[in-house]
Amino acid sequence: MGLFKNLFIDRCPKCNKILETHQSKTLKGIVIKSCPDQHYQKEFHPAFETYIESHKVS
Ligand SMILES: [Zn+2]
Repeated sequence: MGLFKNLFIDRCPKCNKILETHQSKTLKGIVIKSCPDQHYQKEFHPAFETYIESHKVS
């Protein structure tokens, strides 16, 4: 349950800020959620029903 819930966190794993939601202009339907401080970003791809996550090390 804990691991499953982790896939859907809406907070940055690094600083725990609430992620900002953006709609991609070039790729329709894709929702991007990112940390205001750019630590972390994830894209939701409805076609694949999956998230692609990226961690930024700074
Ligand atoms: Zn952050």
